[in-house]
Amino acid sequence: MTAWPVPPVPTLPGVGLAAMLHDTATGTLRPSAAGPDARLYVCGITPYDATHMGHAATYLAFDLLVRTWRDAGLTVRYVQNVTDVDDPLLERAVATGEDWRELARRETALYAEDMAALGVVPPDVYLGAVETIPWVVDAVTRLIDQGAAYRVAGQGAGPDGDVYFDVSADPHFGSVAHLDREQMLALFGERGGDPDRPGKRDPLDPLLWRVARDGEPYWDGGPLGHGRPGWHIECVAIALHHLGSPFDVQGGGSDLAFPHHEMGASHGHVLTGRTPYARTYAHAGMVGYDGEKMSKSRGNLVLVSRLRADGVPPDAIRLAVLAHHYRSDWEWTDADLVAARERLERWQAAVAQTAGPDAGPVLAGVRDRLADDLDAPGAVAVVDEWVAAQLGAAGSGTDPAAPGLVADTVQALLGVRLRGPS
Ligand code: ZN
Repeated sequence: MTAWPVPPVPTLPGVGLAAMLHDTATGTLRPSAAGPDARLYVCGITPYDATHMGHAATYLAFDLLVRTWRDAGLTVRYVQNVTDVDDPLLERAVATGEDWRELARRETALYAEDMAALGVVPPDVYLGAVETIPWVVDAVTRLIDQGAAYRVAGQGAGPDGDVYFDVSADPHFGSVAHLDREQMLALFGERGGDPDRPGKRDPLDPLLWRVARDGEPYWDGGPLGHGRPGWHIECVAIALHHLGSPFDVQGGGSDLAFPHHEMGASHGHVLTGRTPYARTYAHAGMVGYDGEKMSKSRGNLVLVSRLRADGVPPDAIRLAVLAHHYRSDWEWTDADLVAARERLERWQAAVAQTAGPDAGPVLAGVRDRLADDLDAPGAVAVVDEWVAAQLGAAGSGTDPAAPGLVADTVQALLGVRLRGPS
């Protein structure tokens, strides 16, 4: 699968800092990468809906991480998947009468357009689930051979042979999200799991391989029979293939901590015989609108593509998101967007001048703030301060290199383009 084009990222003087990052599993700040390379897996979209502000905020958060890593001179390996075959996608296709492949193709293309418009650095490896079936089959087969997975008999007219992971096979199960069993059961049911499926050893055991049903797409699973992958094993198969374990950062929205990242970690532990699966589990907060979490089922989506169609500069969307710390849950408001557009105009006016106050502290300050758990609001405040001095009545400084260095800093580290068409 082809990702979107790489945006221009200016090279900055000196060497930046590899960020400290909050780890959900330990509840502490940890070095985001050991170096000299830095390996990141961010769970991708299930392409049945256009990119909303919640998705955008998650991918922008990890875009900041990639940018700080590059600035710190690390060799970045960034992997992202597209869950281009799964229940929500197939259900939507049935509901609308559209071919599921066409729905996935269209929404994946729109996502790529949104990411390109927002200036997100694309992953180095970008794969659809349907491109990775042999790796999944291999992983599931190995889990069965290890006694960590088992087949379940069909119910009613359903076929035999769905394969489930036995969560008791991993002594470290539960070490990512640290939930009690009641919480796990509730969230598992809400987020794609099937706690009530008869025949499972534990209601929390997640699906690894779903054997073919009439009218559903399937692939040749070799010893597993015709079928399609479960969601968690899809990401693990890709991550182990392209990053190995442990890799540095497993990222996603906070609603992925359980069950998705918990299950993925357990799959990884058992498959590799090693812990941890990822050194850091990093989670972006949820974005609400009108007092609720943004979601299709609630009908309160703010879509990036809609804002773009309405003529909102993508860099203003980016600034509106960066005004919030990535880990916080926050609410999208129209006032946010107004403020972001005003900020973008002020910053553009400030760097358009022929000279300005020394920009060294801006570069150092933005690096310092992002190194502290990607504190984008703090970084924005550093730029605001320079812009206020530049545009203030006291008059600006006389360094002819300053406006260019501020523009480069903002573009390289925050991904906001202040020069040229925005
Ligand atoms: Zn994933």
